[in-house]
Amino acid sequence: MTILRPYSLFFLIYKQKERNWIQYMNTIVWEVKHLSLPRVMRYCKKCGTKTEYISAGSFRVNAQKKYLDIWLIYRCARCGTSWNLTIYSRVNPKTLDWDTLGKFISNHAKLAERYAMDAGIMEKDGVEVETPPYRIVGDDIDLSQSARVKIVSKYPLKLRLSKILREKLSLSKKTFDEMVSAGMIRTENGADIRKCRLQRDTIVMIDCSAIYRQDFSGRADG
Ligand SMILES: [Zn+2]
Repeated sequence: MTILRPYSLFFLIYKQKERNWIQYMNTIVWEVKHLSLPRVMRYCKKCGTKTEYISAGSFRVNAQKKYLDIWLIYRCARCGTSWNLTIYSRVNPKTLDWDTLGKFISNHAKLAERYAMDAGIMEKDGVEVETPPYRIVGDDIDLSQSARVKIVSKYPLKLRLSKILREKLSLSKKTFDEMVSAGMIRTENGADIRKCRLQRDTIVMIDCSAIYRQDFSGRADG
């Protein structure tokens, strides 16, 4: 029978806690909320220069024989000239469900917003989109404590995760890079945080006591 001395017991509990500390930690949620729809930058023939185009929040659906063309309508912010962003080109209406088709025809506001926020569709159409203004909503954290932060966004904007973190934590680029190199800020899934873009949700571990724990383990093993 193994007799555990009080100190050993404490040490075992400590190691177990250290292993599971991530699971026990509360998760703080930061939500990146856009404050307006992104504007498209393109050359306007009427204005004779590159201007901003704003989503009109409505669709144009055109039937051509058995196929449909569907666009999201934009207007030049200066002169109102319209331009259409391609959503579907020569699509067989049978491949679309009636509900979605009805939403295109009735200019469903939420659907228009979803397409106006879809960076993938913009890229496919080769248009230049500006990042809309946004706000990061969620509790601030104390950098001396460990934290598990879930960064969520309804729409995957073309924003770097590092930019969101630096803004919310009020860190300079240099300090942020140093903390990433020291393993104090990292993604839970191991993806390179410097290269990550904002997704629908990403979990970031912030642990400024990492260096101290490393020292402790080193001493315990030695
Ligand atoms: Zn114009």
